[in-house]
Amino acid sequence: MKKEIVIIGGGLAGSEAAYQILQRGGRARIIEMKPIRFSPAHALPTFAELVCSNSLKSDSIENASGLLKEEMRLMSSLTVRAAEATRVPAGKTLAVDRIAFSRFITEELERMGATIEREEAVSMPDARPLIIATGPLTSDAFAVAVSGLIGRERLFFHDAVAPIVYKDSIDFEKAFRASRYGKGGDDYINCPFTEGEYERFYSALTTAEGFAGHGFEGLNYFEGCMPIEELARRGPKTLLFGPMRPVGLSDPRTGERPFAVVQLRRENLEDTIYNIVGFQTRMTIPEQKRVLRLIPGLQNAEFARFGKLHRNSYIDSPALLHKSLQFKGDGGIFFAGQMTGVEGYVESAVSGLLAGVNAWRLANGMEPVVPPPTTMTGALLAHITAPSKDFQPMNANMGLLPEIQGKDRRERQAERALNDMKAWVLAGSLPDGQNSYPAPEV
Ligand SMILES: Cc1cc2nc3c(=O)[nH]c(=O)nc-3n(C[C@H](O)[C@H](O)[C@H](O)COP(=O)(O)OP(=O)(O)OC[C@H]3O[C@@H](n4cnc5c(N)ncnc54)[C@H](O)[C@@H]3O)c2cc1C
Repeated sequence: MKKEIVIIGGGLAGSEAAYQILQRGGRARIIEMKPIRFSPAHALPTFAELVCSNSLKSDSIENASGLLKEEMRLMSSLTVRAAEATRVPAGKTLAVDRIAFSRFITEELERMGATIEREEAVSMPDARPLIIATGPLTSDAFAVAVSGLIGRERLFFHDAVAPIVYKDSIDFEKAFRASRYGKGGDDYINCPFTEGEYERFYSALTTAEGFAGHGFEGLNYFEGCMPIEELARRGPKTLLFGPMRPVGLSDPRTGERPFAVVQLRRENLEDTIYNIVGFQTRMTIPEQKRVLRLIPGLQNAEFARFGKLHRNSYIDSPALLHKSLQFKGDGGIFFAGQMTGVEGYVESAVSGLLAGVNAWRLANGMEPVVPPPTTMTGALLAHITAPSKDFQPMNANMGLLPEIQGKDRRERQAERALNDMKAWVLAGSLPDGQNSYPAPEV
């Protein structure tokens, strides 16, 4: 009898994991609490529900999300196949009819023989392999069980994400490198403001349009997670004593302390993307572009990730997970989806794909596999499991990929990622002798 793999949560990640197991001839049991119990954001009884936007982002491979989807096509992703089958016209964006998309995935899993249990998991099952994919809105009872497994301090509940910009879009004629009081070398990039620049920025920030909110988040902000625009509304000087304080810094061009400063902190080992420190925000994306480009030095900023703030249960993956998505404390347990600290529908699905493949391999006595770090999938897994003091969820972005110098580097990064993924997929199907990957079209 083949070993059954238990998956808790039939969302984007859990559904893709189940599919990968089933298509390899394995047995998958999905425990899903809908329709008996719905999170505040879920409404459909079916699997893989898109709770907010119906967009799976760009389909162009020079875009990080497009590249990720192309890699998933090579790995025979159900999510991408379902999206293509249910797409609605939206230019280069892969947008779907969310009801048809969710139904497509549910019917496919049913057809392939998944065992489906409609109940809320309230404790940690003993079954191994086990995949935990209960998502950002994991039910309270199960969150307690996860805390018990990993330690309470390693489960986070709010996602206060500051925007990230590409370093090569920062204007170093204006911005300068330095740490406060000269402590810490040149680690930070500083954007200095004159009083006039600050006033203009302050006015734009405090009048910017915010997300309407989903009406279910009930956020009482922690002081450390306060959106920058909310903090600013407390008074014109608040930011000058908070995230924009200029103390300990002097502008090398004038030798003087600026009126205010925005600091950016390096986000990755490759030194390509920078986080705007303390700038978690609920401004809409067009407003983030407009307002944040008023920061001197960021007038041409390109964003690798926009800021956001919402309820999000996720674990401290750098401390807890191997790149294979196995829990370090018990290799029979895998985490997948937004819980691992990936951010986004497609990112959640790809982590489910890998967790499904590796859980199946474990059940069949094989070593786990991880795609090369030159692929978007591999880079994302490497990022969420790399040592980090202040771990925050991350979406796919080109800044995660190892650098290529020179012209057309995004195109060449994408080309390298796809070549490496094709080679990896083909190689991966051989050593098992079980064709773990159906032959892709290469
Ligand atoms: C409000 C909100 C809006 C978002 N909007 C977007 C967006 O527009 N675009 C985007 O790319 N990303 C968005 N995200 C982020 C993320 O991409 C989605 O949340 C995505 O669905 C995560 O996939 P997942 O598989 O990890 O979790 P989910 O898709 O949420 O799946 C988890 C599943 O587990 C089930 N479950 C939970 N607890 C239990 C339990 N105890 N027992 C059994 N079943 C359980 C849930 O019912 C659910 O079906 C949003 C997140 C939130 C919270």
